[in-house]
Amino acid sequence: MTSAHCDSCKFFDEHKGNGAAAQGDAGLCRFNPPVSQPAPESKGLWPVVSSEDWCGHFTAEMTAAE
Ligand code: SF4
Repeated sequence: MTSAHCDSCKFFDEHKGNGAAAQGDAGLCRFNPPVSQPAPESKGLWPVVSSEDWCGHFTAEMTAAE
């Protein structure tokens, strides 16, 4: 695992939702379900991560078709 980065992880979602739009390299980590609703009527939030972040759950994206 020489280049474990969120942007090459299968759980990284580069779709700019969840307030991540203002951050150029940010995306959402979809490893776990959404967490920490700010209010009962609010939607849960996906963790926002940088493309250069990584964690112990890193799983390489299947890149054969890219
Ligand atoms: S935080 Fe971990 S599981 Fe989530 S996208 Fe980054 S490396 Fe993957």
